[in-house]
Amino acid sequence: MSRTSFDVIVVGLGAFGSATLYQLAKRGASVLGIDQFAPPHNKGSSHGNTRITRLAAGEGADYLPFIKRSHDIWQELEAQTGKRLYHRTGCSSQRPSATPSAAATPTRH
Ligand SMILES: Cc1cc2nc3c(=O)[nH]c(=O)nc-3n(C[C@H](O)[C@H](O)[C@H](O)COP(=O)(O)OP(=O)(O)OC[C@H]3O[C@@H](n4cnc5c(N)ncnc54)[C@H](O)[C@@H]3O)c2cc1C
Repeated sequence: MSRTSFDVIVVGLGAFGSATLYQLAKRGASVLGIDQFAPPHNKGSSHGNTRITRLAAGEGADYLPFIKRSHDIWQELEAQTGKRLYHRTGCSSQRPSATPSAAATPTRH
């Protein structure tokens, strides 16, 4: 008989939905992921091979703990897969100093 109940059902399996599903499953939750297409597909935002991640998030300093934790998770995934997934490089971001969030974000990372 097929299963009919789950702890969590995630609808939408792009970067956010699939990461949520993965972390919940890792913690022992019974999970079901549903997508309108068959991931990985190129019909949402999470397509292509690369993404930039940076500490200087324009959204503000409140995002920093999440970003730092995501970098830890990339390292965990590298250890699990034996593949290099995260390539750390230098980056320089510029914006007018009058931009409100500029004061809240690091300028060098
Ligand atoms: C070209 C491009 C470059 C980018 N570069 C960067 C970058 O360098 N760094 C960065 O941090 N971010 C970048 N982003 C943004 C980042 O990719 C997105 O923020 C992220 O992929 C969004 O993921 P998501 O899971 O929210 O959405 P999506 O990846 O769009 O996933 C949503 C999923 O929900 C499914 N879905 C939608 N409606 C339904 C429904 N009714 N029923 C079932 N399934 C449904 C879709 O099929 C899809 O699979 C970029 C985005 C683009 C497009």
